[in-house]
Amino acid sequence: MTLSQGRSYLAIPGPSVLPDRILAAMQRPSPNIYAGALVDMVAGLWPDLRALAGTAGHVASYICNGHGAWEAVNSNIFSRGDKALVLVTGVFGHGWANTVRGLGIEVQLLEFGGAVAVDPAQVEQALRADPSIKAVLMTHVDTASSVKSDVQAVRAAMDAAGHSALLAVDCVASLGCDEFLMDAWGVDVMLGASQKGLMCPPGMAFVWFNDKARARCLGSNLRTPYWDWTQRANPEEFWHYWFGTAPTAHLYALRESLTMILHEEGLPQVWARHATLAHSIWAAFDAWGQGHPAIHLNVPNPAHRGHSVTAAHLAAPDATRLRQWCEVNAGVTLGIGLGMATAEDPHATGALRVASMGHVNAHMTLGALAVMQAGLSALRIPHGLGALEAATGVIAAHAWQP
Ligand SMILES: *Cc1c(COP(=O)(O)O)cnc(C)c1O
Repeated sequence: MTLSQGRSYLAIPGPSVLPDRILAAMQRPSPNIYAGALVDMVAGLWPDLRALAGTAGHVASYICNGHGAWEAVNSNIFSRGDKALVLVTGVFGHGWANTVRGLGIEVQLLEFGGAVAVDPAQVEQALRADPSIKAVLMTHVDTASSVKSDVQAVRAAMDAAGHSALLAVDCVASLGCDEFLMDAWGVDVMLGASQKGLMCPPGMAFVWFNDKARARCLGSNLRTPYWDWTQRANPEEFWHYWFGTAPTAHLYALRESLTMILHEEGLPQVWARHATLAHSIWAAFDAWGQGHPAIHLNVPNPAHRGHSVTAAHLAAPDATRLRQWCEVNAGVTLGIGLGMATAEDPHATGALRVASMGHVNAHMTLGALAVMQAGLSALRIPHGLGALEAATGVIAAHAWQP
């Protein structure tokens, strides 16, 4: 017997849970893409996309996933032979660096080890040493390690070095989850995708850029007609937005998502909800790890942790056993350990990730934690007690009071 029937919960860090109302919004016949309701609706998306990023700048949208958004940024800001400084706090930093290298751009990596945030002092030093660097690329929250870096501190380091490089930030995992203010934080280019905090299916991505980035990159020779952000951000005709047919069903999903985030719940409340749910997950792991140090969060310093995903370690292969138990017995699918392979544990069976990304509320997170508690007991994995009391205590302390 298993207890997995009922509504399952995909608690992996993307694709995230699709709200029923977003699915429902997509269920419609193909609309006219030349005039009428779709064209009118799309006009209203751009102010909301700017508000989501905290910018008055430009937005270009693409029919692709996050990897495509990397390519979009690369091809718009770089010319062949340029040099990029890539700040790496996990697998996704390396992923972006690889796409940059693949276009013939020189990459200097600054690696921070996958459990701590970017050290701004090292960024300043690297920039002082090389005035030719064209752009600094960083990941706000690296989904593999769950490390969050301080974007404002990196901007301050760039200013302290008196360096003119552009600052480009991957916000795929943090957009609509962790606070992010593009203009206030001095970010020149940022990117996001539809299937994480935005609660939509994979298949749409966004690049925001300011006037400085646009002017600086006018002559970029890697820019092909398809990836060019110029027309997409300021189209003369509707088809320029996506350089071809619009992603019709996704656009209705996006409309619903932006309404939920910006006009119903409100972005500051969305950030606060993610913060509280993440803290409850951290509290549970801290309790499980009491007296059992094999169980611990990947990122020791809470200030360096993102709120949309939490990476954790157990003794190998207990993380894999626990994930399988939770899925088969309780309908909760946890994320695999990504980039956590070691010589002793080549398949990262001692690492897992718990998402708290997008359409997630207290009963989903507490349910996932309770299921994990049951799994730890059923599998006789040694662990500390009091995890559910700790997690529910966080929720009780931060929730609305009548
Ligand atoms: C998910 C993710 C990506 C890649 O997105 P895909 O849609 O899988 O291509 C890139 N960066 C970060 C930080 C992500 O979380």
